[in-house]
Amino acid sequence: MKRPFGQHFLFDPNILKKIIKCGGVTREDTVVEIGPGLGTLTKFLALSAKKVIAIEIDKRLVEKLREIVSMHDNIEIIQADAMKFPFDSIEGKFRVVANIPYYITTPLLFRLLEFREKIQSMTLLMQKEVAKRITAPHGSKEYGVLSISVQMQTKPELIFPVSRKAFLPPPDVDSAVVHFEVCPSLSFKVANYAFFFRVVRTAFSQKRKTIANSLKIFKGVKDALAETGIDPGLRPEKLSISDYIRLAEALSRYA
Ligand code: SAM
Repeated sequence: MKRPFGQHFLFDPNILKKIIKCGGVTREDTVVEIGPGLGTLTKFLALSAKKVIAIEIDKRLVEKLREIVSMHDNIEIIQADAMKFPFDSIEGKFRVVANIPYYITTPLLFRLLEFREKIQSMTLLMQKEVAKRITAPHGSKEYGVLSISVQMQTKPELIFPVSRKAFLPPPDVDSAVVHFEVCPSLSFKVANYAFFFRVVRTAFSQKRKTIANSLKIFKGVKDALAETGIDPGLRPEKLSISDYIRLAEALSRYA
């Protein structure tokens, strides 16, 4: 049966409580949940938070959900597409806690990060494979463009894995909970983001080559590597975010 909107529901109360604990949710907090589905996580959130704003795209689910959570007066259900929802319309800062729809994991993450100043933290259940790429340190095989762009804006931590068997119906992949502490201002300063990401994307598009070879379309690559003291024989995944920032800055002087 075709599942619209990536609907895989989680019922295990132990996992649900563990997710909320990781989220650090307190009675002071407004929590935004993306994709409340049948409200299992929503109800637990309502017991821990001051207010829960649950954004669900599926009209049929929204009707059921309103009945299911009717005894909680601190849950607001909004029928909307989270990819288009204006998160800056929410009053004050908030935490995001959600079992997100996997078909939009990465775009949703970047959509949320557009509102970084409003977000205290995010605790998201997602595909384990994506969770590993997001949290990968440099030097590991999963490290790449996604790890760099997310780690420049947040401190992500893979907290615990969740088996596909915990969901109804089970998805095709295993999952993991990732907690992101969101940095209000960027912890890495970059002079030209567009150029920086061009360098990073080019490097990782040729992952098996050395950094000198994968970046040879850039003028002055040998000199830039020498200036920054980065070994030209390294593979792209061996360079840290700071290495890429220094390298992009040096390369920009030859562009
Ligand atoms: N939170 C529920 C649970 O844990 O059982 C359901 C999680 S299910 C993986 C994803 C939910 O996101 C579904 O309820 C689906 O309808 C909803 N959804 C999918 N795309 C969405 C979107 N663009 N905006 C808001 N909700 C969406």
